[in-house]
Amino acid sequence: MMFFFIGMHTSEKDFGIEGYHTCTRCGHVGDWHLIKATTWLILLILPIPIRVRYFSRCPGCGGTAEMTKEEFMEAANRSGDLR
Ligand SMILES: [Zn+2]
Repeated sequence: MMFFFIGMHTSEKDFGIEGYHTCTRCGHVGDWHLIKATTWLILLILPIPIRVRYFSRCPGCGGTAEMTKEEFMEAANRSGDLR
C-alpha cells in the first residue's frame, strides 16, 4: 500500500532588528525586524526548500521590504544577532 503526502509550509526566522524606520504604509515608527522566510515543499516526511525570501518587516502593519540575501546578511551581522 502506498500513499503520498504533499504539503506546503512556510517557516519564518527572525534575525533581529534591521533598523529604526518610519513605515510608509502605516506611519508606525519603530524597529523593523529581519525575517528569513523559507517555503518548503513537504514530500512524504521530507521537507524540500523551494523558495527563500529575505525582507524586513514593519512591527505595526506587517508590511515588508524585500532585500537581497547579501543585504540581509550584512544587516543581520550589523544587528549582532545572526544565528
Ligand atoms: Zn507599517
